[in-house]
Amino acid sequence: MSQQSLDPNKAVVVFSGGQDSTTCLFWAKKHFEHVELVTFQYGQRHDTEIEVAQQIAQEQGLKHHILDMSLLSQLTPNALTQHDMDIEQTDDDMPNTFVPARNLLFLSFAGALAYQINAKNIITGVCETDFSGYPDCRDSFIKSMNVTLSLAMDKDFVIHTPLMWLDKKQTWALSDDLGVLDYVRYNTLTCYNGIIGTGCGECPACKLRARGLNAYLAEKGAN
Ligand SMILES: [Zn+2]
Repeated sequence: MSQQSLDPNKAVVVFSGGQDSTTCLFWAKKHFEHVELVTFQYGQRHDTEIEVAQQIAQEQGLKHHILDMSLLSQLTPNALTQHDMDIEQTDDDMPNTFVPARNLLFLSFAGALAYQINAKNIITGVCETDFSGYPDCRDSFIKSMNVTLSLAMDKDFVIHTPLMWLDKKQTWALSDDLGVLDYVRYNTLTCYNGIIGTGCGECPACKLRARGLNAYLAEKGAN
């Protein structure tokens, strides 16, 4: 079987329109000539998330693949348990829609897309530092997934995780280094209430984001 080698100048960014993946988008643009974005649609909190992602992709002139992952809703606790229990509220007051191994699934599809467009590089904004949370966001898993994707398709993919060891303050610092602090600050969506930029200021995502930003701005002002 003759193998065409992957293009080392091409990259696929797993992209949600939030702070982290938008910072990854600009990191990718700095390092690779040709960048494409992939967004997974799976019953996000707000349709606004998809619209924000589309808007950013358009503004940056990047090809944007939106993949329908609505089948994930069949695997949420809500869908599996709705007959015998009430909808559980998590700490952040959102219905519990977490799907185990979600990142495993997303990276598999990002890998299949990378294969189709012959891109060697896959970029994801996962991070071990701020959330102890999901095992498939940890560095050890990503390294394992890199091997698995390469074996599965007989290609030498490279998964990049520029945010893996950064806290929120350092992620803002990275966006500043990339010259896009204000762009990320005012055009991305992390708020659980669907408010772009600074957000509602009340939900856990807004609080985490603001804490990191304020810490970074304070540090920057002091220097
Ligand atoms: Zn909010």
